Amino acid sequence: MSVPGFTSRFVDSLPGDPLTHNEPRQVRGALWSKALPTPVSAPTLLAHSREVAALLGLSEAVLNEPAFLSVLAGNEPAPGVTPFAANYGGHQFGHWAGQLGDGRAIGLGELNGFELQLKGAGPTPYSRRGDGRAVLRSSIREFLCSEAMHHLGVPTTRALSLVLTGDRVVRDMFYDGHPEPEPGAIVCRVAKSFLRFGNFELCASRDDVALLRQLGEFTLTHYFPHLGPPSKDSFAGLLTEVAERTASLMAQWQAVGFVHGVMNTDNMSMLGLTIDYGPYGWVDDFDPGWTPNTTDAEQRRYRFGNQPGIGLWNIERLGIALLPLLEDEESLVEAAMLAYQRTFEAEASRRFTAKLGLTPRDGTVELTHSLFSFLAAEETDMTLFFRALSDVVEAGVPTTFPDALRTAFYGTPTEAHLARGLEWLRTWWERTREEAATPAVLAQRMRAVNPKYVLRNYLAQEAIDAAHAGDVSGVRTLLEVLRRPFDEQPGQEKFSQKRPDWARSKPGCSALSCSS
Ligand code: AMP
Ligand code: MG
Repeated sequence: MSVPGFTSRFVDSLPGDPLTHNEPRQVRGALWSKALPTPVSAPTLLAHSREVAALLGLSEAVLNEPAFLSVLAGNEPAPGVTPFAANYGGHQFGHWAGQLGDGRAIGLGELNGFELQLKGAGPTPYSRRGDGRAVLRSSIREFLCSEAMHHLGVPTTRALSLVLTGDRVVRDMFYDGHPEPEPGAIVCRVAKSFLRFGNFELCASRDDVALLRQLGEFTLTHYFPHLGPPSKDSFAGLLTEVAERTASLMAQWQAVGFVHGVMNTDNMSMLGLTIDYGPYGWVDDFDPGWTPNTTDAEQRRYRFGNQPGIGLWNIERLGIALLPLLEDEESLVEAAMLAYQRTFEAEASRRFTAKLGLTPRDGTVELTHSLFSFLAAEETDMTLFFRALSDVVEAGVPTTFPDALRTAFYGTPTEAHLARGLEWLRTWWERTREEAATPAVLAQRMRAVNPKYVLRNYLAQEAIDAAHAGDVSGVRTLLEVLRRPFDEQPGQEKFSQKRPDWARSKPGCSALSCSS
């Protein structure tokens, strides 16, 4: 058994930086720089995803080989390829931030058509003042959420492995002048491509149209071959498809209650994948104004209810960057933005009506919106509420506010609120009788789209606390439970409970900083 050979279309076909040292610098005329992982002292494989291993054609035997662990820890080069950091820029919190690049992600190349990338494997030319490392808590969060999202059916980068490095990393978790050493870790991320809007924006910001074109042609050829050979039309097709994929992704985030937290354009995937899990969170109570990211607490630019609008703003940034390939035809950018809006409306409506057991028709959008305003009026757990509706559909027309739904309230609702809820439930229940399916069949369909298990912030934090104390079993258990988010899973109910009171304002459970 030996470590399989890697290949790399990115490194082989696109211009790289002639310099090979790690000093921070502006890199022009190149889309990547060579970046060797920095070895760590005592790597341990804490967890891995068997589905991702299978995608890559890696057997359990290979994964457990010391030589492969060395690759996942960055202690040995991946055979066959130059490790690299990609060069990109981005709009951060609404402002152009210039060159950013992979400051702590190192691309290893491809296996089976998938790129592998080590996050936290040491500095690169793009690390600026950062150390290129990642701490265990944020690595656990990235590892678990990537896999949880995949099993929910949401497009995402994946995670092959979670490796403890054996080295400490100093972080000021709250940016309050109290830096502390924390255990370091490395996640091996996996995706067909890690290209971001920001890769294109950086070329455009420097008026490097030749490089922009090379990147555009590479993207079309390898990831969007159905759009035809490179031309103004196929680049317009590319922009529209990215817009549609992004819109569809936003509809899916809203439907499961996921808040990314840092939707900067350097964190937006050209393939429409959820990418860069940082201070993300899951809404417990349905609050469109909520953001988990403390860095964004004032402006709340990336709050739950704002994600679809930000997705559109980001598409506009990508469109403007691509203008030189569109022969400066601004109407093509407008068309892509329109496609975004149409797709978002259709997908969001389809997904939310399906959550209610309905097929879209006259009145279903209004019904959904009146539910949103009901849910937002008093703290109500989004996941629990939608899941419990499938029990209500089976029980017959509600005459009192159902107990199954009462458990979703965080506080004690007023009688007036319950009356309003009951009225909504009765209208909705009558609507379900216009569907051809029996209540039992409807309930089954609803359970297949309303997850019972999501990676609640406090669950991730409990697993992190245990891992810090040396017990990684919580991470593995969560990984298992989150593989089947729509199944009842008798015995695992404790992972489907609403946020306990102690977690309401505990760091990591409600608010997170970007320090990771
Ligand atoms: P993020 O907010 O995680 O998307 O990161 C924004 C930029 O900062 C990207 O260019 C990252 O590669 C870089 N970055 C974040 N953390 C570190 C770190 N610890 N060391 C070096 N670069 C980092
Ligand atoms: Mg990022």
